[in-house]
Amino acid sequence: MSVPSSAPPSTASAKPSRTPATTPAPAGPSTSTGTLDDVVDLLRGRRVAVLTGAGISTDSGIPDYRGPDSPPRNPMTYQQFVGDEAFRRHYWARNHVGWRHVHRTLPNAGHRALVQLEDAGVVTGVITQNVDLLHEDAGSRNVIDLHGRYDRVICLQCGRVISRAHLADRLDALNPGFVESVAGSVADIEIAPDADAVIEQTSHFVPASCEACGGVLKPEIVYFGENVPRERVDRAFALVADADVLLVVGSSLTVMSGLRFVRRAAKDGQPVVIVNRGATRGDDLATLKLDAGTSETLTALVDALA
Ligand SMILES: [Zn+2]
Repeated sequence: MSVPSSAPPSTASAKPSRTPATTPAPAGPSTSTGTLDDVVDLLRGRRVAVLTGAGISTDSGIPDYRGPDSPPRNPMTYQQFVGDEAFRRHYWARNHVGWRHVHRTLPNAGHRALVQLEDAGVVTGVITQNVDLLHEDAGSRNVIDLHGRYDRVICLQCGRVISRAHLADRLDALNPGFVESVAGSVADIEIAPDADAVIEQTSHFVPASCEACGGVLKPEIVYFGENVPRERVDRAFALVADADVLLVVGSSLTVMSGLRFVRRAAKDGQPVVIVNRGATRGDDLATLKLDAGTSETLTALVDALA
């Protein structure tokens, strides 16, 4: 008798790529839908760990490519980036334009509300799936950037980390006039959460390599098909375990890298509250689900709890 083989759960859960990015969230209302008052009642007097996704940054002008109103999009995979030089050139050309948009993006009321809740001792820390650093910019002190940060670049060969701003200077020198050549259409360029931007004329773009060893440079961002570093995952689990409640804000929990915290909390009997527009993969595990925007909800939580 043969036993069907399957990947170990620990391996599967560590890889965001195992979840097709284009899988739509289930339709229909959640069975655990509550009201803002319900959320306030559940959070009152409790220490709250927060998990945020793209939905909290949409009010800052960074589109949520998994949101209910967003067009389907195929994100780059780690394998594409590492394995295909032409793809990398195209990627860096687009990123060279797109990252400037993220660079000048400002935190919104939702980010600021989380700072106030942290100051009030309600929020113990924020785990974010975003790479835009808007929690840090707003003033949150305890932030775990689960998927990395857009302002850093790492050499895949020697591990040297440089700032994205420094790389921008080098790319400008290697590609004089490139940004200016697409500047007129910048307002129309689709800006994605990973600082990618859709432009066509990239075949002549010259990417930069590591100044120390000549290796391939990659944004210090966790892409599909890539694992979140173990130490970072452990810190995030510890943050959740140390709190009384897990509050998910603005994430459809499409990828396992975020969903696993909801699963762990639910398994441990810890209340889970989800605030998101549209259904999420964690709805069945939530104690309460509020189908609402992040900025207005978090602002209301400050009024009620801080
Ligand atoms: Zn290097």
